[in-house]
Amino acid sequence: MTAARTAIIAGNWKMNYGPQKASSFSMEIIPRLGPLLRSYQEIMCILCPPAISLCSVREVLDAFPTPRLELGAQNMYFEEQGAFTGELSPSMVSEMCSTVILGHSERRTYFGESDELVNKKALAALKHGLRPIVCIGETLEQHEAGKTQEVIRRQVQHSLANFAPQQAREVVIAYEPIWAIGTGKAATGANAGQVTHLIRQLYREMYGQEAAEALRILYGGSVTSDNTSEFMAQEDIDGALVGGASLKPDFVEIVHKTI
Ligand code: PGA
Repeated sequence: MTAARTAIIAGNWKMNYGPQKASSFSMEIIPRLGPLLRSYQEIMCILCPPAISLCSVREVLDAFPTPRLELGAQNMYFEEQGAFTGELSPSMVSEMCSTVILGHSERRTYFGESDELVNKKALAALKHGLRPIVCIGETLEQHEAGKTQEVIRRQVQHSLANFAPQQAREVVIAYEPIWAIGTGKAATGANAGQVTHLIRQLYREMYGQEAAEALRILYGGSVTSDNTSEFMAQEDIDGALVGGASLKPDFVEIVHKTI
């Protein structure tokens, strides 16, 4: 982590917590996040509940106004409106959220999302003033075959293509090795540090020095309050995308440890 970039701790609740539970859990953690975020300016926090629970979390956020505590969606479509049953448009998401997670490995694996689709979504998000958190990461098989760099290069080049210079600075990338997601087997700090270094280098080749320096790169995959400091100590890691631990009060501890 470097002081030049505001850190991000984002909680990806995945398909957990409907409106009622989302509301009660938000009531539990938001008042505890408030003092942390007020005392330390260099960090922001983004809660990403399921789409159906966005409104109820928004209500709690409005009841406890907290600086740099934002709301994010977990997915959206790239079209503006129309006959796309079950989807959310960028403008709908932007009415309530600052951020949208795109191309999570679960969306790529279970819903067939390609780098090209993720790129269209990222461009649509930026057009609507949304901050995209674009997820990339290799499978266990690719990891063991020594193909991590190759996979990351392809994902960066295709999922993160065609941004205008100003847009390139707004983007957030989450490096999430798939073998570390939900398994309790996080990458080591050093390993995640190497891959995130490569990501910044690739981004520099695509968008230049200034955009690469502004780019926030998060690590995701079994992050808890026990291991978060190890990741934050890496120069090219600017925060975390937290799954399982974001559903527990441990999320507040993760923010605490990042400060
Ligand atoms: P995990 O999930 O923290 O439960 O491993 C991370 C993610 O999928 O974003």
